[in-house]
Parts: sequence; C-alpha cells; structure tokens
Amino acid sequence: MAGATSASRNMETLEALESRVRAYSRSFPAIFSRACGSIMLTEDGRKVVDFLCGAGTLNYGHNNHRLKAAIADYLASDAVIHGLDMATPAKLEFMETFNSLILRRRDLQYRFQFTGPTGANAIEAAIKLARKVTGRQNIISFTNGYHGMSLGAIAASGNRYYRTASGVSLSGVTFMPYDGYLGPDVDAAEYLQKLLGDESSGLDRPAAILLETVQGEGGINVARKEWLQSIQTIATNAGALFIVDDIQMGCGRTGEFFSFEFADLSPDIVVLSKSLSGYGLPLSMLLIKEECDAWQPGEHTGTFRGNNLALVSATAALDLYWRDDIFSQGVQRTGEVMRHRLEAIATRYGNRFSVRGRGMALGFDCEMSELAATTACKAFEKGLIVERCGPVDQVIKFLPALTIDSETLNDGLEIFEHSLDEALKQTRPS
Ligand SMILES: *Cc1c(COP(=O)(O)O)cnc(C)c1O
Repeated sequence: MAGATSASRNMETLEALESRVRAYSRSFPAIFSRACGSIMLTEDGRKVVDFLCGAGTLNYGHNNHRLKAAIADYLASDAVIHGLDMATPAKLEFMETFNSLILRRRDLQYRFQFTGPTGANAIEAAIKLARKVTGRQNIISFTNGYHGMSLGAIAASGNRYYRTASGVSLSGVTFMPYDGYLGPDVDAAEYLQKLLGDESSGLDRPAAILLETVQGEGGINVARKEWLQSIQTIATNAGALFIVDDIQMGCGRTGEFFSFEFADLSPDIVVLSKSLSGYGLPLSMLLIKEECDAWQPGEHTGTFRGNNLALVSATAALDLYWRDDIFSQGVQRTGEVMRHRLEAIATRYGNRFSVRGRGMALGFDCEMSELAATTACKAFEKGLIVERCGPVDQVIKFLPALTIDSETLNDGLEIFEHSLDEALKQTRPS
C-alpha cells in the first residue's frame, strides 16, 4: 500500500514539474527504476516486458551485461569521454571495426560522418549534404515517412500533428506515395518516374530521395524489394542522392545489419542512430559515399558528435553480434516465430486484422485507433509495453529486443493476445 501511495505521489510530481509535452510517461504511467534485457522493473515492484525498446534503440536489450563491461572499463581508465570530434582510440577502433565487420563484408564503401547525437541531426546533415552536392533544394520524401523533429527533418515527415507543431511553413520537400499507398494496383514508383520525366509536372528536380525501407512510426509499412530498387534507379537517373534512413530499422532490426541488404541497394547516404551505440547511449552518424563527401571542414558541426563512451559500446556490440551470421539468422528465425503467432491471432478474428513487417519489426493493424489504444493500455496493466504507430495510431508495433529469449517473447505475445481479446469485448459496438 505504501508503494502505491508513493507511486501516485511521484506521478503528481511529474505532472506538476514536467512539461505537458511529455509523451511516453503518459502511455506507460509508472516509475521505471531498473531494467535488464527485455524486462523493466517499476518502483512499486512490477515486472514489465518491453516490446518497445526505446523505439528500436535497445536492439541488444537493456543494460546488456556483455556491453556494460566495455563501458565500465573505459570509464575506469580515465580515457577521453568528450573531445568534440577530436581523434581518440575509441573513435579509430569503432571506425575500423565497423569498416571490417559491417562494410567490407558487404562490399560497401563509405566514409563516416559523426553528427550531433540525435537521429534528427543526422537527417539534417544528410539533407544539407544532398543539397550541397547537387545544388538543388527539393527533397523527395514519402507518405507516412518519419525522420525526426528538427525543422528540416519534420519537413520530410508526413504526420500532420507534428508538422503543425512546427509553427512555420515547412518547405523544400515534395511527398510522393510510398510503396502500396495507392493500393496494390498502382505502382507508386512509376508515378514518381512519370512526374520526374515530365518537364511540366510541377515537380522540381530533386537533390535527394529519402526513405525508410520499413516505415517505423508510419505504421510498419513494408516496401517491396522491386519498389526500392526502382526508386534507387530513379534517384540515380534524376541525378539525385539516394538516402536510406536506417535509424529505426538498421542495426539488425529487420534481420540483417542494414535494412536494405535484402534488396541489394547501394544508397549514397545511410543514416544510423538509435541502436548504433548498442546500449541506449546517444550516437548518430552518416555513411557517405566518397564522391558525395562534399563538406568543407566544420560545415556541419556540433558539440556532441561521436561521443566516445557511445563509440566504445558500439564497437563492443559489433564485436559481440556481428562477427558472423549467427545473430542475424537468429533474428530472422525469431521474427518468423513472432509473425506466425501474430498471424494466428489475426486469423482467429477472421482476417479483420493484418500483420506486416520484416525481421523483428512487426505491426498488428487493428484498423481502429480506439481498439489499438485500449489494447495497448490493457497490455501495460498486464505487464507489457507496446507502442502504437500509423496515421491514426491504429497499429500495434512490436519491437522486442533482438536478444529476447523465447519464454519472455512468448509471455509478451500472450499478454498482447489477452489484451486484444478484452479490448475487443469492451469496444465492440453494442
Ligand atoms: C527516431 C527516428 C528518427 C529521429 O531520431 P531522433 O533521435 O528522435 O531525433 C528519424 N528517423 C527514423 C526512421 C526514426 O525512427
């Protein structure tokens, strides 16, 4: 009882002192004091399975003890934590490791640009660079795309709620339909191709085409391999840079390290953030093809670029999980298990619902916003954190840690199933 009282007092403090802008503490009203792997513990002693994982920031789980040791050793050694973007052994080791374990093994060649710590800052850098390289302004982005909250990044994001909050006119971006947006009978790539080829279409020549291969915030919308390949070709033919925002779907989420490997793409710029540090520490970067590296020294600067502690955990994560294909294969297997389970649940309700995604990024489309909201809310009461996404938050998003054990995964999926059952009974029109 004492625990419950202090918990409610804590929530009152939060309401009194923290800005109304707070978001996740509303969806998940608890004080989270500890976390390990796929489990978060609340101050009042509840254990909660985490299927949100910092929106894809904790691909290797909370406080992964195999990564923690590297961070603890680094801290204990008085090595440089902050040095702006000065060279350190931590940075050199990260670049060498990433180069040999990730890039060379995939026949990719990129330069590294460490940006400010947020994904949005990396997107800003990518957009600026594309404009600089091409001398053009227009960025082509896609319906339901999400790229972050700074003005350049939000200009390229579809969500009206966020766009309106910007308070200024957002410019320099043209939206095109994403794969499947216009239904199965319309090829959205052909539409884009037609506009670009027409001198009178009204579409300005693009500096870049920017996309996610699976739209995370936009509803777990999956682009097909053929579509992605067409868009890359269209970008190249139009003299535009092809940019993949792999902030949420990269670092193994879809089964391979990069979400575009399955389609054999070769983006001019790749944007990475969220799970890059492996430990939830802020770290963002661009991978840039050498011929696109048109920056003058310091043109995109910032105080917290390439934080050394984050680079140390990032290197440790690469060493641990990406030396061979075993981890990647495990993610693909677990993804299949999740998909089958979610599809079985959808089938139980006579295909009212649909399941989509790739690897361990899956979405359960409830069709109705209210049903998804009630389901997520009940899930949390029963001990599961799942977030919603999509244009009206009608999709339940599953992003469990890639390291989750099958028992915890099963527990979480079971909670989801019961919660959906209860939510359906509650929201069924009478
Ligand atoms: C989270 C996210 C961003 C923005 O990253 P922040 O660190 O929140 O600025 C951009 N693109 C995608 C696909 C994301 O998931």
